[in-house]
Amino acid sequence: KKESKKKDVEKISKKYELKEVLGSGAFSEVCLAVHKETGKKFAVKCIDKKSLKGKEDSLENEIAVLKRANHPNIVKMIEMFEDKNYLYLVMDLVTGGELFDRIVERGSYSEKDASECVKQILIAVDYLHGLGIVHRDLKPENLLYQDETEKSRLMISDFGLSKMEGTEAMATACGTPGYVAPEVLMGKHYGKEVDCWSIGVIAYILLCGYPPFYDENDATLFAQIMRGEYEFDSPYWDEISQSAKDFVRSFMTVDATKRFSCSDGLKHQWICGEDQSELNIH
Ligand code: ADP
Ligand code: MG
Repeated sequence: KKESKKKDVEKISKKYELKEVLGSGAFSEVCLAVHKETGKKFAVKCIDKKSLKGKEDSLENEIAVLKRANHPNIVKMIEMFEDKNYLYLVMDLVTGGELFDRIVERGSYSEKDASECVKQILIAVDYLHGLGIVHRDLKPENLLYQDETEKSRLMISDFGLSKMEGTEAMATACGTPGYVAPEVLMGKHYGKEVDCWSIGVIAYILLCGYPPFYDENDATLFAQIMRGEYEFDSPYWDEISQSAKDFVRSFMTVDATKRFSCSDGLKHQWICGEDQSELNIH
């Protein structure tokens, strides 16, 4: 195993030319990369090994699973390289930008649009959960459109890796911990239900344009989340269908054992029925 690792060292620059930075996160930078042989463009996530603190092996296991994940709504992992200081994950390039940026640009947005977005997220996360993968960091920045077209698919990116981070790292690493499930903040053992909570939070924001939990003070914010203190405030939620509110409630349920799963969500009327309003909501 050691030998196969060694072979990868510095091979990335033989095969790909690394170009400009496309985006960055807490412990990594994502760069554009051109496959030298074909000229095809990819995205490469460069992860500082220092941030892994000896958890490289579990990361490798995770990556092996991710390489098996093959789904139209999931950014495909192609291959991995490493050198002394960095891990490089080569993945398909997506060019459509982040979910919320597009919503802001569009200006008009209906419940039907929101339902269609959430449906794609549910399908993708249901697939991951079926493979035994928990994303753990579902949030708008990690939902990217595949291309610039209006009909573009929504893609989930940046998954599995946050598994390597403990509760504290997670809470401090994300600038806005507003998507983290209550059981994570309580330091409890947690599973795939955490993704379902995040889907509830994302649905909430898609419907009203602001987050369910907010406080400048992190301790107060965490307490709000742990108690599940959110409301469907008037007037913002007045025109939103009961079906949509029921969907949000079913996912933003503090008790993880009672929370809806992705497959429950896919059977919910707001996703598979016809009762989403077509009114412009924000
Ligand atoms: P982190 O774990 O550090 O948050 P991400 O995987 O979320 O890293 O990537 C950080 C940013 O890089 C994203 O928000 C996005 O803007 C950009 N990015 C990530 N993956 C891709 C991709 N496959 N194609 C194009 N841009 C990407
Ligand atoms: Mg990210």
